[in-house]
Amino acid sequence: MDRIHILPDDLINRIAAGEVVERPASVVKELVENSLDAIATRIEVELIAGGRSFIRVSDDGTGMSDDDALLALERHATSKLGTGDDLVRIMTLGFRGEALPSIAAISRFTLSTSSDPAEGGTRISVEGGRILGVEALARARGTSIEIKDLFFNTPARRKFLHAPETELRHAQDVVFAAALARPDVGFRLDHGGRTLFDAPPAPDLVIRLNDLLKNRRQGQILNVEVSRGDLTITGLLVEGGGKGRPQMTLIVNGRPVRDRVIVGAVLRVLREAGSGFGGSRVILDIRLPPEDVDVNVHPAKAEVRFARAGAVFSAVEAALRSAIDASRSHPETPRLEPIQPFGQQIREARSSVYGSDHRSSPAAFTHPLFGESEIGIRDAEPAPISSRLGGPKPGAADTPFGRIIGQYRNTFIMLEGPEGLIIIDQHVAHERVLYEKFLRRLRGEKAPSQSLAFPRVINVGEALASAVARVEKLLLKVGIEAECFGSDTVRITALPPEIEPEEATRILTEMLERATALDQVPERVAEQLEDELASAMSCKAAVKANDPLSIEEQRALLNDLAAADNSYRCPHGRPIVLELSHIEMERRLGRR
Ligand code: ADP
Ligand code: MG
Repeated sequence: MDRIHILPDDLINRIAAGEVVERPASVVKELVENSLDAIATRIEVELIAGGRSFIRVSDDGTGMSDDDALLALERHATSKLGTGDDLVRIMTLGFRGEALPSIAAISRFTLSTSSDPAEGGTRISVEGGRILGVEALARARGTSIEIKDLFFNTPARRKFLHAPETELRHAQDVVFAAALARPDVGFRLDHGGRTLFDAPPAPDLVIRLNDLLKNRRQGQILNVEVSRGDLTITGLLVEGGGKGRPQMTLIVNGRPVRDRVIVGAVLRVLREAGSGFGGSRVILDIRLPPEDVDVNVHPAKAEVRFARAGAVFSAVEAALRSAIDASRSHPETPRLEPIQPFGQQIREARSSVYGSDHRSSPAAFTHPLFGESEIGIRDAEPAPISSRLGGPKPGAADTPFGRIIGQYRNTFIMLEGPEGLIIIDQHVAHERVLYEKFLRRLRGEKAPSQSLAFPRVINVGEALASAVARVEKLLLKVGIEAECFGSDTVRITALPPEIEPEEATRILTEMLERATALDQVPERVAEQLEDELASAMSCKAAVKANDPLSIEEQRALLNDLAAADNSYRCPHGRPIVLELSHIEMERRLGRR
């Protein structure tokens, strides 16, 4: 590996910087990525209390020399990126030189490493970003990084950590995805002294998956494979027990990522294929030339952008279709038993640690708004047959609007109401709930606010920057801390948990533009802006159409909506609730 150096300024500015550390799982992700970049053949992850109190990631990779180990703790110090050209052809998982310094700034951090055991190794201890000591030590080649008391010096952020089991679930998802992306590397995950899994290097994905599931998977595995020019997709489709949505792991050039559109393509194919794929597991490993995929679009590198997205999606569809067709053309294939849900053994281990199993299926993604809730996996449990066939009375209501039937096209929540079918637009519903919440904060309710490890710096031009003073106080009331930073630049230093940094950038620019435009009537400005701010924030933070919601999330949203002052119109006046009465339904279907 190259020596570590500090990136030049122009390159720093082209990097999608931002919050690297949101929770223990983000630390685990960054450290595991570093170990993989260091060509480790074995990575061990140890956690206590879901990583809240202790995280250690150890590898047998290249290690670092004494000098490099110190340099690695500087911001924008990396061995992985040299020139701007490298940014379009990133071959490593890391490239920003941000992770180690960011993590060390908010924890008690110890790095021990050796690149050549004959020359010894080094240990560096850091607390809240301050180097406490550097000492020589003897150790094997490789690196071990220990993090204690994450966020100990940023109590506001510490407060937003979830229960240990939730944090563990996120961290475990990260290690699982990495283990699926790199079957050739051995992975072990320990929690509170118990080994949750220990997967030795495996020759292929099937063996890796079996190791992770400890051979408890019972469904048939279909091979997914397609190659189109320099794009290849390989993977597995593990048939499920017929219930629930599929779980997906998407890997692009060795990097586990999220991508809604690919998820959509997979769901479409599985739906077309009909029964048999509920609860299945899909692992897709997409390989394409590095210049055809931009990995520098998301602060945590969790999303990518494809240069030829259409080609990727159609290849994904084709790959899955042919896997399914191939399996169907072998009718002698024995009927399959339901598979053990992925990660089941982890949850069992966890339930014995925490006393009870808190969830029935692992998450595909964590929803940004519902935090620890899960999305994308479960639909509403089917109602008992008697209530599905109807009859004079609707089933027991589980929300103030009626009984949830489920989500329609991931956009509308359908309910059985006392008088008929109720259809609720999830986006406008959530927008209304949030709008009222932000208004209450603007009118005095205390707003939670988390300071950003890396403030967002936005160049807005001098005209807008000079309007900051006019909106500063208003923004502060909703938990957005923004300040002038030079004559044409604004800096966001803290945000409420509902708002993502990207959204905050847009909201702030919008507010500055409005404050500048409304300049003439100062008395009215504040009042007018209050309302605009609440609606801009609620629109940006609300769940969108096509966002899958779990049944609990749907229920929580409907309960909040029912508690709102106005449950029937969004802040822009759009209706939220549509009702199709039972009488009307019967009339149209010729029953009356
Ligand atoms: P990045 O991964 O973006 O380069 P990091 O802050 O994560 O930035 O790491 C900084 C540098 O420290 C890396 O470029 C690498 O040279 C070195 N480094 C970090 N972790 C390890 C490790 N586990 N083994 C060897 N080198 C490492
Ligand atoms: Mg890194």
